[in-house]
Amino acid sequence: MRSPTELAQVFREKQLKLTPQRQLLFGLLHDNDSHPTAESLFEIASKQMPGISLRTIYQTLGELADMGELQLVDLGNGAMRFDPNMGEHQHFVCGSCGAIHDVDITSAPKLRAGSAEGFAVEEIGVVFHGRCDRCNRPNHGEQVSQHSKRSPGIQAKKIRQVKQASSN
Ligand SMILES: [Zn+2]
Ligand SMILES: [Zn+2]
Repeated sequence: MRSPTELAQVFREKQLKLTPQRQLLFGLLHDNDSHPTAESLFEIASKQMPGISLRTIYQTLGELADMGELQLVDLGNGAMRFDPNMGEHQHFVCGSCGAIHDVDITSAPKLRAGSAEGFAVEEIGVVFHGRCDRCNRPNHGEQVSQHSKRSPGIQAKKIRQVKQASSN
């Protein structure tokens, strides 16, 4: 994605509405590698510019996507994400905190879609799932294992309840 100043220029040239709200969004998106949702951008933008509407956010995101400044990322886990990184890259999703990170595949595997005869594959998307560096730190891991020590008990309870219920 181009810089906020360059985008303002492009919007002016295309005679698109260039409001302070839109310029705020350019700034929030530029170099933003957190893959925000429209709602999370709305939340941040509202703090800086109270009264900004979600509609304006969606409209601006749509225009930027149409202009090839943003890509839409659907990782199949709910909300659509917006990514100003237009370079070829893949994503890593942390199953613990939900963070999405950009990753590069250094040696591209030769993926073939078996049993997809007659299909025209246009794009191959690879999503890595795991735990991010923050969640994978040893001290964080301790907290997690404390949680998981507790959870088998809870699960066992649930199973017992289900068994009782089914035996009645
Ligand atoms: Zn994480
Ligand atoms: Zn990305």
